[in-house]
Amino acid sequence: MKRNLSDLLKICQKYLIPKEISKIKKAYQYAAKIHCGQKRKNEDEFIQHPLHTSLTLAGLGLDSATISAGLLHDTVEDGGVKIQELEKLFGSEIKDLVLGVTKVGQVKLTKNYQTHKLTPRELAQLENLRKMFLVMARDIRVILIRLADRLHNMQTLYALEPKKQKRIAKETLEIYAPIAYRLGMGEIKGQLEDLAFPYTHPQEYKWTKSLIRDKFQERQKYLDKVIKNIEDELKKTHLPFQIHGRAKHLYSLYKKLLKYDKDITKIYDLMAIRIITDTVSNCYKVLGIIHKTFRPLIGYIKDYIAIPKPNGYQSLHTTIFALEGQIVEIQIRTYAMHEHAEFGVAAHWHYSDQINQKDKQEKRGIFAPKKELKWISELAKYQQRLKSPVEFKNTLKMDFFQDRIFVFTPEGEVINLPEAAGPIDFAYEIHSDIGDKCSGAKVSGKMASLDYRLKNGEMVEILTSPKAKPTRDWLNLVKTAKARSRIRSYLKKINK
Ligand code: MN
Repeated sequence: MKRNLSDLLKICQKYLIPKEISKIKKAYQYAAKIHCGQKRKNEDEFIQHPLHTSLTLAGLGLDSATISAGLLHDTVEDGGVKIQELEKLFGSEIKDLVLGVTKVGQVKLTKNYQTHKLTPRELAQLENLRKMFLVMARDIRVILIRLADRLHNMQTLYALEPKKQKRIAKETLEIYAPIAYRLGMGEIKGQLEDLAFPYTHPQEYKWTKSLIRDKFQERQKYLDKVIKNIEDELKKTHLPFQIHGRAKHLYSLYKKLLKYDKDITKIYDLMAIRIITDTVSNCYKVLGIIHKTFRPLIGYIKDYIAIPKPNGYQSLHTTIFALEGQIVEIQIRTYAMHEHAEFGVAAHWHYSDQINQKDKQEKRGIFAPKKELKWISELAKYQQRLKSPVEFKNTLKMDFFQDRIFVFTPEGEVINLPEAAGPIDFAYEIHSDIGDKCSGAKVSGKMASLDYRLKNGEMVEILTSPKAKPTRDWLNLVKTAKARSRIRSYLKKINK
């Protein structure tokens, strides 16, 4: 769908102050000028792509720097703009974001992993790739821009040739969606997976789709009746609440079907009802009312408020025999929990000082978000630092895995090393014999000495020679315990 600047500004005006809006306008005008005349593969004007990217970011309620960087994110790579030019025009914050997005884009799936049939080694490889992605983005906003960028690339994937479609869809499923999930961004994760699904698993996609096609409308009508019923019960209590139905994402349904003998009658959350209220204690009250009205299924009552999921997700889940004995899943949560389930880390920006607080209160009606910010568990160690929005802003430049780097073998395998590690560490990581015979290295195609310090994303090729052997000097060059102990044991052996 074609969009324009005013679509973007309309969303931004809901929560940003005028000063920030004008920065976004300036970024748009510049990007439009740079990409003028360029077309996307689907024949759209190129500016549609950064515009859609920023629309997603604005939908997440992010700050003006992130939205501006979203608009500018392809001006360096595809528009030939110099990075210094961006700094001069938009300042160092936006320049750093664009530079980060450009670098993170280099993280690519180089191996043809067979999805769903991964060996433990391949799983570890993928995990390393995802970590590398996070390491290369030293500011979380870089990842959010890259996710929004990928979302639009997936929405326009139909225009690419089949081979590219498959590679990009796979990468989306294996790297981008899991990262969105880990950042607690359920909605983006679901969209990315559903967009990738028809390309990575065409047969399975058709099958899953055919399973729900007939059921869908019928279920929707039924759900409306149940919602009306619950609404009537809840209204008697004067509790504040919102209620709506939600359909399960297709790919997540497919994965669940695999677990349940491909029997769709065993899937109870095909459609669920979501109830949002103001406080935790009211969540439990709502649960009580539901259980008083409908009989719950034994073993399906889950308290993710008391025990959150590893990515920080919180809700009460219950599955009930609703009208006519049919089974329906109910999810109950507070407004703040809902915001976190949908937006994840992005929800933290909703507390930034660029946001018009009064407007926000009005938009959100009865639901004032809770003051304490629940941080996702992946970043749990930063939790102590997140006492206030100001402190949160200061942690933007955090390092996810502060002291690790990720480098490639010539085969595209990712090797995870401590910071300042060198070719010898790398060689021992591959195999101890290669370490012992290491004579030099090529880093990203260029000769490098053994005291070279590897950097994120570099490709390392170890040169060996039958005459090479570990020396005492090597002990001063290595960072890993593995390399150190191998060198020591070699030196001990020859000194005997
Ligand atoms: Mn892009």
